[in-house]
Amino acid sequence: MTERGAVVDKTSENRDGLWKTQGSGGERKETCGDREDSGALRERAVQEARRFGYEREMSDCTLCPRNCHADRLSGQRGYCGQTAQITAARAALHYWEEPCISGKAGSGAVFFCGCPLRCVFCQNSLIASGGAGKAVSVEELSGIFLRLQAQGANNINLVTPTHFVPQIAAALRLSREKGLGIPVVYNTGSYEKAETLKLLDGLVDIYLPDLKYASPEPAERYSHAPDYFEAACGAIAEMVRQVPEAVFEETQTGEKRMKRGVIVRHLLLPGQSMDSRRVLHYLHETYGNRIYISIMNQYTPMRHFEDLPELNRRVRGKVYERLVDSAIALGIENGFIQEGGTAEESFVPLWDGTGLEGISRRTD
Ligand code: SF4
Repeated sequence: MTERGAVVDKTSENRDGLWKTQGSGGERKETCGDREDSGALRERAVQEARRFGYEREMSDCTLCPRNCHADRLSGQRGYCGQTAQITAARAALHYWEEPCISGKAGSGAVFFCGCPLRCVFCQNSLIASGGAGKAVSVEELSGIFLRLQAQGANNINLVTPTHFVPQIAAALRLSREKGLGIPVVYNTGSYEKAETLKLLDGLVDIYLPDLKYASPEPAERYSHAPDYFEAACGAIAEMVRQVPEAVFEETQTGEKRMKRGVIVRHLLLPGQSMDSRRVLHYLHETYGNRIYISIMNQYTPMRHFEDLPELNRRVRGKVYERLVDSAIALGIENGFIQEGGTAEESFVPLWDGTGLEGISRRTD
């Protein structure tokens, strides 16, 4: 607790991680390099789909609310930009999630390429649009999970996984059989379908979804998804159904780590305070203190927006403080805030294929 009131868990660790302004935001590097025979990789993806039983999902893809019906097995790409071939840009210890996720040891983050949402202000737009990735087989992905566990990761953190859920479920089953024992975190923008999330029932321990907008206007303007709120609310309901209780453990060094639970994130955008209040109101009214809410202030313009001038500035500290005050007034007790003023820069990992060494390169 801090003197700010009931929104909790702003420990000194917060200040050491994302919860303090991050350092360099410029460490990005596109690394699409060697090319491998695309026919061979496509054939491998087809064989895997047969072996692990997700041919139907990949040959007529409706995994997310975009409902593209893309034949990803044949190499077609839907809105997410991805075929049936898993692609990832980085698999490494990551220290910039909420303290109970990252801890001192770090979260074992696997950053997948592509995204069904593609927000205009995305900080990871290079990989969201499909760049800087390597092709990874299901077995290789399973090996990556085990390697991150061996490196001491607190958990496996699946970042933007929606469009690869069947492949990830198969990889998680394989790695569980081989001794994966740390929690699995599903880290998503929440443009999801409950029926897709059901494929992960029993495989995911911690859900880390966003709830970005309550109103269709900003959802359309910034993410081209006017149905976002409806879809995200259905997805979060399924997440809470699967993981209804938050469970923490305390380490010998006094760290509080989440083992199970749901943390919903909300990023305050410039000019969107009213929408943010609606988001918080909905979450608290629906779930009370069964879930944790993380209110984020780190919005950083990643480019100049000619047509969306409001996105060319950061959020003022006072505006963020007022949103936190309104969360406290609502009665939100389980939460995270970012202290120390709004972010001056945001952290963007280096998309250099770290953790994917020895994995075949992507073809396109
Ligand atoms: S996962 Fe990709 S291909 Fe499938 S429906 Fe969503 S955007 Fe379309």
